[in-house]
Amino acid sequence: MKRIVIVGAGSAGVMVANRLRRSLDKDKAEIVILDKSDQHIYQPGFTMLPFDLCQVEDIVRPVKDLLYDGIEFINKEVTEINPDKNYVVAGGSDKIDYDYLVIATGAQLLMNEPEGVADRWGKNVFTFYTLDSALELKEKLVKKLGNGIDGGKIVVSIAEMPIKCPAAPLKIMFLIEDYVRKLGIRENFEFTITTPLPQIFARQPYAGALYKIFERRNLKAVENYTPATVGDNYIESFDGRKVEFDYLILIPPHKGVDVVENSGLGKPGTGWVDADIHLLMHKKYKNVFAVGDAGDYPTSKTASGARYMAKVMEKNMKRIIEGKEPIAKYDGHIVCPILTRFGRALFAEFDYEKSISPAVESWVNWVLKVHMLIPLYWNMMLKGLM
Ligand SMILES: Cc1cc2nc3c(=O)[nH]c(=O)nc-3n(C[C@H](O)[C@H](O)[C@H](O)COP(=O)(O)OP(=O)(O)OC[C@H]3O[C@@H](n4cnc5c(N)ncnc54)[C@H](O)[C@@H]3O)c2cc1C
Repeated sequence: MKRIVIVGAGSAGVMVANRLRRSLDKDKAEIVILDKSDQHIYQPGFTMLPFDLCQVEDIVRPVKDLLYDGIEFINKEVTEINPDKNYVVAGGSDKIDYDYLVIATGAQLLMNEPEGVADRWGKNVFTFYTLDSALELKEKLVKKLGNGIDGGKIVVSIAEMPIKCPAAPLKIMFLIEDYVRKLGIRENFEFTITTPLPQIFARQPYAGALYKIFERRNLKAVENYTPATVGDNYIESFDGRKVEFDYLILIPPHKGVDVVENSGLGKPGTGWVDADIHLLMHKKYKNVFAVGDAGDYPTSKTASGARYMAKVMEKNMKRIIEGKEPIAKYDGHIVCPILTRFGRALFAEFDYEKSISPAVESWVNWVLKVHMLIPLYWNMMLKGLM
């Protein structure tokens, strides 16, 4: 009997747990999954929540309701991982041995960076990368548009890369801009996005299509821009460029979680697990794997990527337990639906090597993203059925 321990019951952890449970005999493998939270949140909903395109109850469910029978859920934080001795510690004291460890701890947000941001959250500085902050953005900014906030400079700023869903900052800006256009007050606003990258989206042909939207809708982009400080009404980059705002939507820097970094499994300074980009196997510890945002993989950190990784894990873990070499390879495949305005979306789909989907805005993409993906996520994707 082998014990597989999965740390983190977010998108990646639940998909892997359910896929492994379906394909591994219960008398050959025991599956234990741990999370410090007993609630699972569908984070792609954070861009839709401020506009009532979904509600909290659509995107939050108890973890225990998502797991197949035969998976043990422990609702505790993992406080230590010891890859030399094959155990994790839960809640500061419970030692759990493993034969195989799957790290699915996602990313942590550094809410105190850049300098000056910490005491400005919720005043005229917002984010939407957590459930509470997405709700705050809705209450304090979106709901007030045309209703107290009738104009001004709205700046969306990406503090550092990598971030989860690199298109999410674009989506929020596109939707707010379309929202004020529909209210008939668009000309009172200026919209700017800042990005540390040399272009607003890393891949072509999507970047080209997005720049055309920027031009058509008079949106500004400031590239190669890393904010060093946040002031009352401006951000300033390390190279001294100031961008003024009335309302700032900041995406804070991300890194891997501390317990991974402290265990020596993460890349120093980043905490992202140092694993093979195809096999998802740690480069030093061959019984340790990283799925989802936790891995240091050169593709976008998305739930769609987690889904493809879970398929690879399912195939490889079965072989590994049978004493065979892993052969399935993750190719970096992700699908990123970009909401470009109410009623239109563009899907960016690519892998490590190439872009896959055409850069086309369409109503069908909107329907798929806004009306179909949430039920598909809960009923099919998390269960490992697609
Ligand atoms: C605003 C926004 C929009 C997005 N839009 C999209 C989109 O349109 N499409 C898409 O595919 N993806 C999107 N994403 C990205 C997607 O949500 C993530 O890539 C996905 O959730 C990654 O899954 P994960 O399991 O790696 O991490 P998570 O889902 O974040 O789960 C990590 C889990 O680990 C737990 N954990 C962490 N540390 C510990 C510990 N020490 N002990 C116990 N438990 C721990 C956490 O509590 C959490 O439950 C978006 C994300 C955001 C923030």
